Amino acid sequence: MMAQVEVLMKFVTKAVNLVFPPQCIGCPTFVQGHQTWCDICRHLAVRVDVSECCEICSMPLRRAHETLCIYCKSKRPAFEKAVGFYRYEGLVRETLRRVKAQKRITDGYRVARPLRDEVQQMAEDWDVKGVALVPPHASALRSRGFYLPAQLAGWWRFRRPLILAESRKAQKQAMLGRHERSLNMEGTMECLTEVSGNWLVVDDVITTGATANEAARALREAGANAVFVLAMARVP
Ligand SMILES: [Zn+2]
Ligand SMILES: [Zn+2]
Repeated sequence: MMAQVEVLMKFVTKAVNLVFPPQCIGCPTFVQGHQTWCDICRHLAVRVDVSECCEICSMPLRRAHETLCIYCKSKRPAFEKAVGFYRYEGLVRETLRRVKAQKRITDGYRVARPLRDEVQQMAEDWDVKGVALVPPHASALRSRGFYLPAQLAGWWRFRRPLILAESRKAQKQAMLGRHERSLNMEGTMECLTEVSGNWLVVDDVITTGATANEAARALREAGANAVFVLAMARVP
């Protein structure tokens, strides 16, 4: 049944695209049905090159011979590895902001959907047993009506992700520095069910990794063996 629905949807989408060709999500240029960006905007949406990043937290490294950033070297995070697909800057940052502020969910889908096979492959390589999301801010959820990490999990074909509980309120992070963020997040999440095996946390953006670290800590406290983190974007 699902396969038939998918075939039908593909047909309908093709027919609609013929009449109303989709536009690039970065500019008004028309693109082919399956394309997210036009040729120019595609170059502005920069993928994170993991070979130039910290092996654990994906932070860009200053020197070529290094494998870990100074933060992971001095204290290993609770997660095994955190990866953001795009650099959170320019076009990608604008797009994700628009997705959230203007509820442009389709734009989010058009960025996330092409990553699905890659995400599924990584989850398989990491032997992931379950997917978890960090607790959403109630106010953002009320005003937006959707939770981007939950959308991402769905677009990447993870069924019924576990939403971690908020055990303590964290302050708004935007104005905080790295160290304050980490203190601010400490002990804010809780996993209310016992878990086992390797887990994956799905989020929209990794900034310093403080949120990812707290989610991983909560999951491990509940029994997870290793925790991996995947996000649409990573602050460079
Ligand atoms: Zn464009
Ligand atoms: Zn690192």
